[in-house]
Amino acid sequence: MRIAILSQKASLYSTARLREAGELAGYEVKVIDYLRCYMNITAHKPQVVYQGQPLEGFDAVIPRIGASRTFYGTAVVRQFEMMGVYTTNSSQAISRSRDKLRCLQILAKQGLGLPVTGFAHSTKDIDGLIDIVGGAPLVIKMLEGTQGIGVVLAETYHAAKSVIEAFRGMDANILVQEFISEAGGMDIRCFIVGDKVVASMKRQGAPGEFRSNLHRGGTAEKIKLTPEERSTALRAAKAMGLQVAGVDLLRSNHGPVVMEVNSSPGLEGIEEATGVNVAGKIIQFIEKAVNSGQSGDRGK
Ligand code: ADP
Repeated sequence: MRIAILSQKASLYSTARLREAGELAGYEVKVIDYLRCYMNITAHKPQVVYQGQPLEGFDAVIPRIGASRTFYGTAVVRQFEMMGVYTTNSSQAISRSRDKLRCLQILAKQGLGLPVTGFAHSTKDIDGLIDIVGGAPLVIKMLEGTQGIGVVLAETYHAAKSVIEAFRGMDANILVQEFISEAGGMDIRCFIVGDKVVASMKRQGAPGEFRSNLHRGGTAEKIKLTPEERSTALRAAKAMGLQVAGVDLLRSNHGPVVMEVNSSPGLEGIEEATGVNVAGKIIQFIEKAVNSGQSGDRGK
């Protein structure tokens, strides 16, 4: 089997681990910087060209598309789909998951537990927005933020009001969310491959920090999921149409709530915290899919 990893850098932990796991299983694995590809958009012979050569003969691609490169990255994935190459996540599912709001709307429609959430751009009715989520304390998020930046806990009504006003002045799209205080600064990352949660870890924020992001000094540890958490995570990935996904949950008084579904979840934190060979699981999953004849226009 020949596998292409679409990634900007071969030295990234996840990319390097996937390559290693693929080679260990006896496959040929090539890391392709998708930003350096160009494409020939025709119906009869679609091509992806890289370093002057058309990329041919691949059985599978593993997209590792950076959040800021979604547009071009998903176009390259789509081209591979047109060529009939199997992809672990479809271009459509990746684009869908990159839009936080769309993600929440899809999950809500499937009846999954979510924190009560309001969404706005430049409303003057700030009180109405605060009312939607049941008043302070509440969490305010800039839609474009990552790694916990632009996520603010407003403990009082007045704090909430001034943060929303400030974000409004910045011309930002904002989410206003019920604060799940009982989560105690902990969230749960479930790593999904196919129809299984292959690894799960809890991330605990630094003392006094409600955000559990590892980039913000949080720590990670293996955790055993409840059956409800497991099925919530699987349903969330399925609703997004993702076969490889990281689903983040909070433990709330009314059961697990989904925070986010990530289509290119990192392997480093989860492999270190759990000791699970997640890269190997992904390669095994590809093996099965390719051997059962799934191709690029499938798996949506
Ligand atoms: P990012 O995508 O930037 O990481 P998140 O929305 O995942 O932002 O928020 C960062 C962290 O803040 C989460 O992992 C979680 O620990 C905490 N958090 C976010 N929203 C809430 C909430 N509504 N209630 C409690 N904690 C929250």
